[in-house]
Amino acid sequence: MAEQRAPVETVDRPADQDLSQCVHCGFCLQECPTYLQLGLETDSPRGRIHFVRALAESRVQATPALVRHLDLCLQCRACETACPSGVPFGRIMESGRAMLVEQGRVPLAWRLRVWLLRQLFPYPKRLRALFFLLRLYQRSGFQRLLRATRLLRVLPSGLVEAESMLPDVPSRTFRLRSEAGENAAGTRRARPSGRRVALLTGCVMPLLYPRTHEATVRVLARHGCQVVASAGQRCCGALNLHAGDRRTARQLARRNIDAFLAAEVEAIVVNAAGCGSTMKEYGELLEQDAQYAEKARCFSAMVQDVCEFLASLPIEPPSHPLPYCVTYQDSCHLVHAQKVRSAPRQLLRAIPGLELIELEAPDRCCGSAGIYSFAQREMSLRLLDEKMRDVAATLRPAQGDAVAGVIATANPGCMMQLEAGLRRHKLSGRVVHVIELLDEAYEAEAGGL
Ligand code: SF4
Ligand code: SF4
Repeated sequence: MAEQRAPVETVDRPADQDLSQCVHCGFCLQECPTYLQLGLETDSPRGRIHFVRALAESRVQATPALVRHLDLCLQCRACETACPSGVPFGRIMESGRAMLVEQGRVPLAWRLRVWLLRQLFPYPKRLRALFFLLRLYQRSGFQRLLRATRLLRVLPSGLVEAESMLPDVPSRTFRLRSEAGENAAGTRRARPSGRRVALLTGCVMPLLYPRTHEATVRVLARHGCQVVASAGQRCCGALNLHAGDRRTARQLARRNIDAFLAAEVEAIVVNAAGCGSTMKEYGELLEQDAQYAEKARCFSAMVQDVCEFLASLPIEPPSHPLPYCVTYQDSCHLVHAQKVRSAPRQLLRAIPGLELIELEAPDRCCGSAGIYSFAQREMSLRLLDEKMRDVAATLRPAQGDAVAGVIATANPGCMMQLEAGLRRHKLSGRVVHVIELLDEAYEAEAGGL
């Protein structure tokens, strides 16, 4: 049957100069998690670039098999780090997916995903309602009942596994009362003469990891920053963008640009690597938008990951030791997309008593990748299992010595996935954002512990 194609905006076609940059050398293959798992050229960066190019030039049909190879890409961008020719793979995959979605050439499940993300993430009230229901499910005893009985087994196995990955939804949410310019969580030790920065509060982070935001505000305040939240800010649009819905991503980008530029801050600090990388690329996303192109470039230049931002300051090393054995999992969108590798390690090494032990493959994706862990469960679990084997081998000596084993990382998706990995592999230990360890050391110091 002939495909129904809608006209495509030029802006959402993969650029010829990006596609032609690949010289087929294959240096990226051994860094690609899906190629390493499957050993297939069709699931490698080189193969995917070939497919996107053939689709853009209308030389092939978007068959279900071809679309599956593209959908199996984690968009982790490890191939960008490995590529000696500087192929902008992230941009190619995002625009390739957008082209398919806009032309209606993706299967129903993918279309449903785009619709759900569009209906949910731009709307904080809807997200709050969803997390309220999740919390009710977890705290009412219903979850325990379902898990204890055979009731869950009547559901499709994918849904059961997805249910087992759900993190505990905390009872409180994060709110930065800073429209008036005050540091909600950090007033106690703030030095008001410092820099004025805005914090991206984000969509899921205030609901799932309020503790990370609170720690971020306290640590920034400790370093003399006045932390403000920009009224009207929304989700960064990363999930929509990765699903191929550039229209929604652009709407969110414009809204965030207006909100943050109105706050008149020196920097926009982000503690979620996926959001930071998307916001640093608003300039590219809106480069064809006559009204926003220049503002988007200014905005992107102001965005910094919290680790990068702190490492650029004269960091105040905590004096209180934390006797933890810590391993650091690079978040893909921090190390491969933003190229921030040393800053989080620098912060961890500033904590006295903390022993940082590297994983065998710290910059290999844990399988989280936004909603990939739900959309591509099988591959996500394969990658998670591999990651947890690496974690177990790295932290085992520490656990044997009864020292706390901690996995530090820099993105909420990675935190969720690694927490699920600890539960799945029955490993002790905990998962934290890098900033939480720094905060813990400062808090222990202040409490005289
Ligand atoms: S983004 Fe990641 S999964 Fe996708 S092709 Fe590149 S390395 Fe492979
Ligand atoms: S390393 Fe770069 S140039 Fe070489 S095959 Fe991979 S994407 Fe193409």
